[in-house]
Amino acid sequence: MCGMCIRACSVCYCVDCILQKKRKDKNINNITYQLTRIAHDADRCIECGSCANNCPMDLPLSLIFQSLNEQFQEKFKYRAGESVEDLPFRSAKAIKEMELEKV
Ligand code: SF4
Ligand code: SF4
Repeated sequence: MCGMCIRACSVCYCVDCILQKKRKDKNINNITYQLTRIAHDADRCIECGSCANNCPMDLPLSLIFQSLNEQFQEKFKYRAGESVEDLPFRSAKAIKEMELEKV
């Protein structure tokens, strides 16, 4: 929980990072910390590799995101960082469109 993967990430932009706050307050364990980070970044990871390159524990972090990206591409036909025209599948607009398709 050193936070380097968050600071090094090209797509992490929250000014008040909830994970950094919980870490400082000693209010989170290392598994929840990493799973939360994956949940936050999974659909916007551009596979730059910066997290893995900066991890002092040499964890293969970008491989986790790469694996998720492959599944997202298969399921949602979306790959982060490829086109500004693509609609991220977790965006409010995309979710609204999916809800409209259901009715
Ligand atoms: S590989 Fe993905 S999660 Fe890791 S630093 Fe780059 S954009 Fe962020
Ligand atoms: S995954 Fe690596 S870089 Fe990220 S918080 Fe843990 S030790 Fe630090």
